[in-house]
Amino acid sequence: MSTIRKIFAREILDSRALPTVEVDLFTDKGMFRAAVPSGKSTGEHEAVELRDGGSRFLGKGVTHAVSNINTVIAPALIGKSIMDQHALDKIMCDLDGDPKKSKLGTNAILPVSIAACRAAASERGIPLYRYIAELSGNSTLRLPVPSLNVINGGKHAGNKLPFQEYMIAPCVASSFSEAIRMGAEVYGCLKEILKARFGLDATNVGDEGGFAPPVTDVMEPLELLVEAIEKAGHTGRVKICIDPAASEFYESKEKMYDLGFKDTTHKKITSEEMQMIFEQMVEKYPIVSLEDTFDENDFDAFAKLTAVMNKKKIQVMGDDLLVTCPERIRMAVEKKSCTSLLLKVNQIGTVSETIEAAKIALDAGWSVMVSHRSGETEDSFIADLAVGLGCGQIKSGAPCRGERTAKYNQLIRIEEELGKEAIFGYEAWKK
Ligand code: PEP
Ligand code: MG
Repeated sequence: MSTIRKIFAREILDSRALPTVEVDLFTDKGMFRAAVPSGKSTGEHEAVELRDGGSRFLGKGVTHAVSNINTVIAPALIGKSIMDQHALDKIMCDLDGDPKKSKLGTNAILPVSIAACRAAASERGIPLYRYIAELSGNSTLRLPVPSLNVINGGKHAGNKLPFQEYMIAPCVASSFSEAIRMGAEVYGCLKEILKARFGLDATNVGDEGGFAPPVTDVMEPLELLVEAIEKAGHTGRVKICIDPAASEFYESKEKMYDLGFKDTTHKKITSEEMQMIFEQMVEKYPIVSLEDTFDENDFDAFAKLTAVMNKKKIQVMGDDLLVTCPERIRMAVEKKSCTSLLLKVNQIGTVSETIEAAKIALDAGWSVMVSHRSGETEDSFIADLAVGLGCGQIKSGAPCRGERTAKYNQLIRIEEELGKEAIFGYEAWKK
């Protein structure tokens, strides 16, 4: 049985020119590499990402996290069997001691966990997605519907649009590669529409590769998407998902949401008014998923929206609300706050805990969408994770920019490898 021979970490760059951590883990089978992503609209309850501070890289250096791997984690894991993911992850969690991983950093623990998972799959002689399916006890490998973020706002873009993400989901397709083609066609049509309406500047992109047009009204992007979907000839087959990332413009003292938070003209509205916006949106547009519609601590506001949307079969998803954390997911199940979990590996910090979080949600009858972060690397782990969990949904930004297409292209390869065994899509969205 193969054991860990060596672990070496380094500082590399992510898609926003910020440093992040990459790890090389060695067994007798060779070298296995992993890198961690980083969010910008992060949840306050997420596991801790260690940053150096000081002037280097504007305070964002990760040399402490790198050193924690090379001097603390590596000595504890060298010689250990690669085949027990749970045990390896537990050793790292115990070394840290804090559930939020504030001592070693989630950016130190996660790349080792992912690299170990890759090494174990190789040891077994099976693809990564099959090993993840085994780890999670899932027997149905499934290619996910991609939710492609084609209009960027919020903290991810230099426009004044307050809502963060407007995504297109090619739900009614026969395969993942067909879905990606449809998504890319809508993206291309949207570019032409934006150019004709607002001029060339409007086709500049935000952090996740979606366009950042000069719009401020939260409804306007939906109008643009419907037009682009129609222009591409995919009406009825491409649906819409949104992520306002509402905590980013919530004023806790006043309990108000400021839709003008990127502007000088503040436009503050109540939680009830936010709910009305979402109800109007789903009446008029083909929306299938609403993520982070309220502040990250307001389980009750989410529950009120869920009560309405559940009847319409529209999923209400928690990201900053749940932070991939088992306790918070259980709380949301109990309070009926959501019907869906956004699953981000670096919010919790190990492969084992990510799988545990997904299973809690799936066992509660929820859906799960595997997610990238707005700051990404070329690592495509989440593509295999989505197939292995069989959850049927993924978001990895627009169908452009290498750090985003790394995931979508890996899914194209997995679909090809699975051949006739490949199942695509999320059943409830096919109708
Ligand atoms: C999100 O909010 O869903 C997201 C991907 O953004 P970030 O990585 O900045 O949290
Ligand atoms: Mg989100």
